[in-house]
Amino acid sequence: MKSIVSIAGNIERIRERIEAAARRAGRDPAEIRLMAVSKFHDLSAVKEAYRAGIRLFGENRVQEARGKFADFKRDASDVDLHLIGSLQRNKAKSAVELFSCVQSVDRDELVVELARRAEEAGRILPVFLELHTGEESKAGFDGFDSLCRAAELVFASSSLSLRGLMTMAPYTDDPSPIRASFRSLRSAGEELEKRYPEMEPLILSMGMTNDFELAIEEGSQLVRIGTALFGSRPGAAQ
Ligand SMILES: *Cc1c(COP(=O)(O)O)cnc(C)c1O
Repeated sequence: MKSIVSIAGNIERIRERIEAAARRAGRDPAEIRLMAVSKFHDLSAVKEAYRAGIRLFGENRVQEARGKFADFKRDASDVDLHLIGSLQRNKAKSAVELFSCVQSVDRDELVVELARRAEEAGRILPVFLELHTGEESKAGFDGFDSLCRAAELVFASSSLSLRGLMTMAPYTDDPSPIRASFRSLRSAGEELEKRYPEMEPLILSMGMTNDFELAIEEGSQLVRIGTALFGSRPGAAQ
């Protein structure tokens, strides 16, 4: 188990790196949100991060997230919990109950189901659309046209609100395919904003432990950090 000092220290170092990357890119560090990705780490790690000032958390499985956050969220009502992993249709109802936002919306069927479940729950669910920009796995919409169609489904629903776009870059030490991936998310966002000028500006969610500084240089407004905050995920495939 990590000590309080260690997670708090990691957070401090990450914040410094975020600031430095923002400054290099001529950006205001305050426009970049830090998400702590707590998948595979236990509630005590979540609480340590919370005590060190983190309010935005990401989890990629509904069941695991419920085990950790259902009670904790009652005590810590300012926790903002986002789903960032692929969601099966039959878990959409639980996801709507637990998460404040779903970032991993990757197919039309899921837009429709989340809209239905959010409406039943009487809430407006903020969503991000996930774009496939080069990561090995196939998650995400596969191009601008399918992204646009999904955005229109979101606009047509009174229970969903489009907040941003999310992507995962390929896992490699070579910065050029990583940058290319982030650039394509950014340009997809710019194209969408051009096509639908009445919509709220989109948040770009991109950058993980391995590549968040590149992501900030390419315009990220929300970085999703697991390993560099909590340590490695022993025995975990992802
Ligand atoms: C696991 C995960 C992260 C965090 O990954 P690290 O490399 O541990 O920082 C970010 N985004 C998504 C979608 C993830 O699944």
